[in-house]
Amino acid sequence: MDLRELVISSCKICDGSGVLNNERCSCRGIYNILVSMQIGNFPDEVLLKLYNETLLSEFELCDDDLYYNRILTDPDFFVSNGCGLVIYGVGTMKAASYLVYKILEHDSSLDCGYQDEHTKISVFDLSFPSGLEQLARVIKSRVLKLLPTILLVNLLDVFDSNKSLADAVRWGYGMGLNGEVFRGVNVIEKIGISRWK
Ligand SMILES: [Zn+2]
Repeated sequence: MDLRELVISSCKICDGSGVLNNERCSCRGIYNILVSMQIGNFPDEVLLKLYNETLLSEFELCDDDLYYNRILTDPDFFVSNGCGLVIYGVGTMKAASYLVYKILEHDSSLDCGYQDEHTKISVFDLSFPSGLEQLARVIKSRVLKLLPTILLVNLLDVFDSNKSLADAVRWGYGMGLNGEVFRGVNVIEKIGISRWK
């Protein structure tokens, strides 16, 4: 997908020049974020939705989720403390992509990656049961380096069936992946943390 064509060339505000009154047009900021995410292997379909703001309207549903809001209002906290978030249920990739977008909007110098352990902000999809042991090691190492991490799962049962993974994302400040669990797009109800112990 040609993001320059999509975002800058078609911009009605600056007529595709990327410049407005000798200043950077807003389309360039959006372009830079989407390029970072494209380099980080986020799917084109999701980037397109972010650009069309479809995701943003979907996420008004999540207004009363505390941790979700904390990331949006204070992304520095999430990034500098190496926090984590586990998202489960429907629409997890969308939820994660939206959060990453908002974090990069706040600080565009950060790099991000989907299924890539080497970036500052990483999103891992645990829906594929292969390689969970390896992933547990990756997550543990990220926790030690205080690198913020978002995990996507279909069902939380994946932690019941994989001890090392459950251990890697063990709950509690200073104990493991700090963060909170929330459901994806459709349902925002949070669950108790006792499940992780
Ligand atoms: Zn523009």
